[in-house]
Amino acid sequence: MKQLAILAVTVISLIEAYRLPTNVMPESYRLEIVAPFGEKNNFDFEGKVWIETSCVTPTNNITLHSKGLEIDKTHVRLKDISSKAGKEIKDLKISFNTEHDFLIIAFDQTLTEDHRYEIYIPFKGKLDDSLAGFYRSSYTDAKTKEKKWLGVTQFEAISARRAFPCFDEPAMKATFDISIARKDGYKSISNMPLLSTEPMEDKPGWYWDNFDISVPMSTYLVAYVVSDFHYKEAEPIDNNNVTFRIWSRQDAIDQVDFAKDVGPKALRFYEKFFNIGYPLPKQDMIAIPDFSAGAMENWGLITYRESYLLYDPKVSAKVSQHSVASVIAHELAHQWFGNLVTMKWWTDLWLNEGFATYMASVAVDHLFPQWNSLQEEGATDMLSVFSFDALRSSHPVSVPIGDPKEIDEIFDTISYKKGSSLIRMMSLFLGEETLRAGVSNYLREHRYHNAEQDDLWHSLTVAAHKKNTLPKDLTVKTIMDTWTLQTGYPVIHVERDYKNGSVEITQERFLRDTIKLKGDKKPCWWVPLSYSTESHSDFDTTTPKYWLSCGYEESSQTIEEIGPETEWILFNNKMAGIYKVNYDEKNWLLLSKALKSDFTKIPTLNRVQLLADAADLGYVGHQKYDVFFDMLGYLKEETEYLPWKAALGKADALKNYLIRNPIYGVFKNYMTSLLSPIYEKLGGLAMANEENFDKLDKIKFQVLIVSRSCRYGVEKCIEDAKTMFNKWKSAPNDTNPVPKDLRSAVYCTALKNGGENEWNFLWNKYQQSNVATERNSLLNVLGCTREIWLLSRYLEWSLDDTKIRRQDTSTVFGAVAGNDVGYYIAKKFFFDNVNKIFKHLAPNKRRITRYLTSITSHMQDVDELHELSYLIDHNKENFSEVKQGVEQALETVKINIQWQQMHGKSIHDVLQKFSKI
Ligand SMILES: [Zn+2]
Repeated sequence: MKQLAILAVTVISLIEAYRLPTNVMPESYRLEIVAPFGEKNNFDFEGKVWIETSCVTPTNNITLHSKGLEIDKTHVRLKDISSKAGKEIKDLKISFNTEHDFLIIAFDQTLTEDHRYEIYIPFKGKLDDSLAGFYRSSYTDAKTKEKKWLGVTQFEAISARRAFPCFDEPAMKATFDISIARKDGYKSISNMPLLSTEPMEDKPGWYWDNFDISVPMSTYLVAYVVSDFHYKEAEPIDNNNVTFRIWSRQDAIDQVDFAKDVGPKALRFYEKFFNIGYPLPKQDMIAIPDFSAGAMENWGLITYRESYLLYDPKVSAKVSQHSVASVIAHELAHQWFGNLVTMKWWTDLWLNEGFATYMASVAVDHLFPQWNSLQEEGATDMLSVFSFDALRSSHPVSVPIGDPKEIDEIFDTISYKKGSSLIRMMSLFLGEETLRAGVSNYLREHRYHNAEQDDLWHSLTVAAHKKNTLPKDLTVKTIMDTWTLQTGYPVIHVERDYKNGSVEITQERFLRDTIKLKGDKKPCWWVPLSYSTESHSDFDTTTPKYWLSCGYEESSQTIEEIGPETEWILFNNKMAGIYKVNYDEKNWLLLSKALKSDFTKIPTLNRVQLLADAADLGYVGHQKYDVFFDMLGYLKEETEYLPWKAALGKADALKNYLIRNPIYGVFKNYMTSLLSPIYEKLGGLAMANEENFDKLDKIKFQVLIVSRSCRYGVEKCIEDAKTMFNKWKSAPNDTNPVPKDLRSAVYCTALKNGGENEWNFLWNKYQQSNVATERNSLLNVLGCTREIWLLSRYLEWSLDDTKIRRQDTSTVFGAVAGNDVGYYIAKKFFFDNVNKIFKHLAPNKRRITRYLTSITSHMQDVDELHELSYLIDHNKENFSEVKQGVEQALETVKINIQWQQMHGKSIHDVLQKFSKI
């Protein structure tokens, strides 16, 4: 396709300025770091690095990365080490290009092709609180109340250069030989096992820890931690000789048992699934008190935010157990996808993240089949993609990256969830066996090297043709390029000819912005078409009956003899393909009628799809909103979690639109009458412990219904929650009567209907808690109060390190902005403090997008759009680093305005009509 090709050419020329030259390539690093812990208030560190390189093309300069490090130019050395003598290259001229973080070593002599050269650079740095590079974290010891420090690394995507000078690009793989000096009483860990420890000659009480040399890997995967943490070691599985340890601060060491159980099992699962052994002799996983991301897959030393590794069965909710298992499985999947085979450049980040996300859902389902989570994760990811990727300002899965500063912005829904949904789609149209065979070959072929998506397409095509799961004249590349190189996804229009029993299918991009722009492209996709009809239910077959092709003149597809006119037809069995389906109104009504008479005839995932599609097509005006509300009529019979989740997700979006509208009362009554019966049916706040203990979907279902019932004002829910909360508050040292999973919903309701007293009670609980999952849900709950001054103070505290950890600052903002009253306060706070917030988040400014999405979902008139545009224009420097986030925010507000113009008045009649039914 022409447009894409032109785009690619322009981007390549832009990229070159940011990329390292490839005339000299690194082969091995020898790194020595002296970490300062134990010396009061000393956060300086010192290091030396020797990098062995090979000269690929003759050159008289070497460029590598360094950022924020102090480099003693006079001691930098360069030696030709091809011969034993080690001839030194003299008169080095060292300079810096701070815009691109370049450290340039120039010299008069020309380096010889195929010779090997060693670069030596001594450097100094500071452990700061930026949560990037080699940084500091802290915790308070429960017994001594003393503040303890630790040093930890976070390098992905481009922060290794903050810790030591290096060739900081994913394709510049090398081995790492690391030694860390630390004071007695501390321990250091790194990617590889500890080989030896020896006293430092000139520093009594200090020791060198020497680690084994690593396998070839990318710089962003290097890691080391210096701390006084403790660990528990897991039992080996199937004698695979991998030493598996879970580390945490001592006060939380009794919370590592779940990870200790899951980690080795997940690792073993992948070894079997990919048919490739885990290549390192050990795997450490450590819970870090201050951590910017959720977790980081450093090879052999995975770092986690505490709430994603630690689990306390006495305190943590069951849903937290699920997220801990998921995150562990995600990071371990990266040991193959990302670590063993790495993307050539960040453009293909989705290969890392999409696969890790998809494989985690498969692994968790294998380890905990009783949780029924595979279906849930597939559906939840698709629903997020449907929403995010319907923005014009979304981006392709495989995204050209120019300035490496833009990399952080693509760690988003598209790389993770659309990536994962695409792999799920391939698994369903090629078959799981084909996917597994293709992927295993891909990993085997490229191990210890880098690859791009075409390499994966090739392996999959070979496997598919061998197993006859794809027509010989079709390749995976032909199909998948239409999904990964283009933004968005299609809606297919199914037009039935009821007289002759045929259907005609066409496609277009599904956009939430309904105003057609001049010059709008007409993209197309290779769409796998599967379907079922009332008398030919074929929902288990996800291999396509037809392909809606792309790239030919005629891209519509006619299917004959599809069924009698009185029967419904439903496309996209099991929601296997990433597309929406729009039918003519008559077929919609047939489907709606079918759900009402016996919803079990249509499987859960397709019920999810019908509800989501009906709502979204109503939203953009492809269908009348009546279709969605008519369909909601069947929900009172629905017994499964996922269709309710889809329906209530759509209702929540409507709530944001209606909350400032005089007709909100009608909507609220509609919602309470929808929710009251199911609230009662599921047992209200009484968790049926025994029966549901391991049924995660049942627990999630009850949590969903309770939280929405209380939120929309089901009286019984509010009364029950208040009573239960007060019972606990009056005897806080007794066993908490609120079931663990319902605590967030109950506390939130109590705060919403309470005052300062309730807030202080929960704030104290937050401060006293030693369990990160509990602390995290309390942080969210504290935003539920309606006391304006409390919300304002809470926001102030979000920028105060003594009150709220830097990693949690955007959680607090999101909690306040998500509250109907809090939105106005949050918006004002954001506008008043935008520079301060950027400073607080630096260098990871991407986290500002959480602020933007929190407020823009509520903004819906032209004045608000102007206010936001003004703010962005007047803080250009900061916002220029989150270009995509800004575009997505502005587009969201524009769409909200369109919705108000299109439906703001007419929704009244729809609500009136369906309230009566
Ligand atoms: Zn990941």
